[in-house]
Amino acid sequence: MAKTALITGGSQGIGAAIARRLADDGMNVAINCLDEYNRDTHGEAVAAECRQRGVEAECFIADVSVHAQCDEMIKAIKERFGSLDVVVNNAGITADGLLVRMKEEQYDKVIAVNQKSVFNICKFAGAVMMRQRSGRIINVSSVAGLYGNPGQFNYSASKAAIVGMTLTAAKELGPRGITVNAVAPGFIKSAMTDVLSDELKEKILAQIPLGHFGQVEDIANTVSFLASENASYITGQVIVIDGGMMM
Ligand code: NAD
Repeated sequence: MAKTALITGGSQGIGAAIARRLADDGMNVAINCLDEYNRDTHGEAVAAECRQRGVEAECFIADVSVHAQCDEMIKAIKERFGSLDVVVNNAGITADGLLVRMKEEQYDKVIAVNQKSVFNICKFAGAVMMRQRSGRIINVSSVAGLYGNPGQFNYSASKAAIVGMTLTAAKELGPRGITVNAVAPGFIKSAMTDVLSDELKEKILAQIPLGHFGQVEDIANTVSFLASENASYITGQVIVIDGGMMM
């Protein structure tokens, strides 16, 4: 039976690339979309691309920062596909600003979407996987969570927390045959980074030994590996994918 993968924030950017890649790997794909607008403008096209690869694919609406919506979504995916084998916690936002000027809402929103979402999804998906006695959870952190980044106090906090969550979930869920790992991208070309100024992009580029920004497929390929049989003895790891930027 084909495996089923959930990708949060799977309607564009890195999440959409992961959805296509896992579909290439033969998995049925549940694409989480924030709302109906996001589903209609982006999600459905990604689902169609996945179906063209010969698997089943469907969009599931949920704001992953909302506990109850995640519960409902995981139930709906299990009902639709029969199992939930791979979960990629990819949904994320930025709301950059210097620490001393950062508004409370700016902090709370980023923590809710980037960090609490991982709790929400790991809790409900973890329960399904524990009953199955198998599963793969892959969390999308960031080099900002490992090394810090000026202007991203909120984002760095959320992405560092994801590392602790990954390690704890790996220890709790490992005995039930579930692996939990994280990827920490550096600078990847997507809507999230397109908004940065050319000046900042040039500065960042100068720090990347491989001499170019990452592509969304670079992250999708590593997620594919972590979700595969080849990675069955890897758990509790954080894989940095940054072209050597932070070494
Ligand atoms: P993106 O802005 O293109 O995609 C983010 C996705 O998250 C979108 O599909 C959006 O709809 C979804 N999303 C936002 N809030 C949501 C919510 N409350 N509920 C459900 N979905 C929600 O950005 P991206 O670059 O593709 O980022 C994907 C992940 O990779 C994020 O977690 C981001 O922090 C991480 N990341 C990106 C980079 C980079 O350089 N692009 C670097 C490090 C980490």
